[in-house]
Amino acid sequence: MTQYIFITGGVASSLGKGLTSAALGALLQARGYTVRLRKLDPYLNVDPGTMNPFQHGEVFVTDDGTETDLDLGHYERFTDVPSTVDDNITTGQIYKRIIDKERKGKYLGGTVQIIPHVTDEIKEFILSDNGGVDFCLCEIGGTVGDIEGLPFIEAIRQLGNDLPTNKTSFVHLTLLPYIAAAGEVKTKPTQHSVKELRSIGIQPDILVCRCDRNISPSDRKKISIFCSVPEESVIQAIDVDTIYAAPKDLKDNGFDAAVLRSLGVKKIPKVNLSKWNKVVKRIRNYDGKVEIAVVGKYVELNDAYKSLFEALSHGGISNNVKVEIKRIDSETLKDKKSLTKLNSVNGILVPGGFGQRGSEGKILSAKYARENNIPYFGICFGMQMAVIEAARNLLGMKNANSTEFGKTDKPIVGLLTEWIKDTGIERRNENSDYGGTMRLGSYPAELKKGSRIRRIYGKSEIVERHRHRYEVNLSYKDDLEKVGLKFVGMSPDGLLPEIIEIQDHPWFIGVQFHPELKSRPFNPHPLFSSFIDAAIIHARMI
Ligand code: GLN
Repeated sequence: MTQYIFITGGVASSLGKGLTSAALGALLQARGYTVRLRKLDPYLNVDPGTMNPFQHGEVFVTDDGTETDLDLGHYERFTDVPSTVDDNITTGQIYKRIIDKERKGKYLGGTVQIIPHVTDEIKEFILSDNGGVDFCLCEIGGTVGDIEGLPFIEAIRQLGNDLPTNKTSFVHLTLLPYIAAAGEVKTKPTQHSVKELRSIGIQPDILVCRCDRNISPSDRKKISIFCSVPEESVIQAIDVDTIYAAPKDLKDNGFDAAVLRSLGVKKIPKVNLSKWNKVVKRIRNYDGKVEIAVVGKYVELNDAYKSLFEALSHGGISNNVKVEIKRIDSETLKDKKSLTKLNSVNGILVPGGFGQRGSEGKILSAKYARENNIPYFGICFGMQMAVIEAARNLLGMKNANSTEFGKTDKPIVGLLTEWIKDTGIERRNENSDYGGTMRLGSYPAELKKGSRIRRIYGKSEIVERHRHRYEVNLSYKDDLEKVGLKFVGMSPDGLLPEIIEIQDHPWFIGVQFHPELKSRPFNPHPLFSSFIDAAIIHARMI
């Protein structure tokens, strides 16, 4: 029977609960177990799909087309287990389900309450469809004590009681701040956080303490006594130079062994971390570097392009170089002078994006890359902007634009109104809902013979994850191909452009999908490996 590990956080947000969960998943796999990771988000939105990247960071899209929290990206990168619709839930979804049931009279006239109805719905989510894995890791978003998180904490408390002994373990992540004025590490916030958790009825089995120095034996003892957690289950988690060193670091500090002990495992299986050691060794011994400009709207925010930045670093891992990212706010690119920011970089990447703001700067970046033979990688919006650029400057269509920005007589990019899904034909129009109605998730594409993209993938058909509402308009295909912008990847029905490339250029590729979502540190995505390889060649030439 599956055993459940619940991960909560206290004291402060951004302590790395998602990464810790992902690293624990990787460690359990390294000991031969199967795992699955789930995220329970207490906010009221139905999913993060319509949330502002400034507030919520990247939206991670799964194969089955669910728009999820970015922590699922960490889970996939660390465990390589593809997430599904069953792996992320929000308070919004829970309430939506309950209200739908109530309207249908499913509660037979009973009063619908947080306990038991909301907590039952949460428990059902946690226990359903876990695929018979050895361990299901459930991370609760937010920090203990948040009003909106209470039903989730209550639900996992109940599960601790509902399930047989040794089937649940509670991990709590806290902060041990060093107070410079006192010259001391303080354990009080941790004590308070655990007190808060216990007031709801949960006694943590493991404490993961984020700190910037070793925990002294006396502090460990203090934490153990006040929090009733065995000393060997007070785990120190100091910042590591690369996130991919986290599994080994946590293992060395006894984390997964403590979790397994709390679940009644007597003989802890051997751990094989060779895959992780290889990745970390490469990262610590890079031979050179390249600089890539990422031109976007939310560049100052790490979380808004999480998977993208990771995938770029994976491209560096496969080529043995450090990838330095030059973050450029597309709104600052307006004229010749501002474009000088791009003249020292070895590659330009325009990532996914929405809306008109900043789009002209992205179009100018594509032009700059094309004219100056700098490797260009356009992802989703970045592909659409590259096609608009080619139409404007190679075909002389001054008004070329996207209908995403308003009416235009040259709709080079237009609204996607119909496409084929495995469940049938999907249709949309201008009045469709905003949430969850894009072309989402995995779709196949066929790659043209003789194209660069086919060489990069080494195959003729690929499957990649999508998240878009607009598409490149096929009416302009022939004209664009005549001036060198080739449509080299199409949906199997030939109706939807998936990939464009300029063959008379060192590396100029645009893709309608998001390859960054499928890149793994130990299995870098071929497009990112190839892009960084092109950037290395560029670096050698300048
Ligand atoms: N806004 C564009 C569209 O909806 C691109 C989306 C994206 O980059 N993810 O098609």
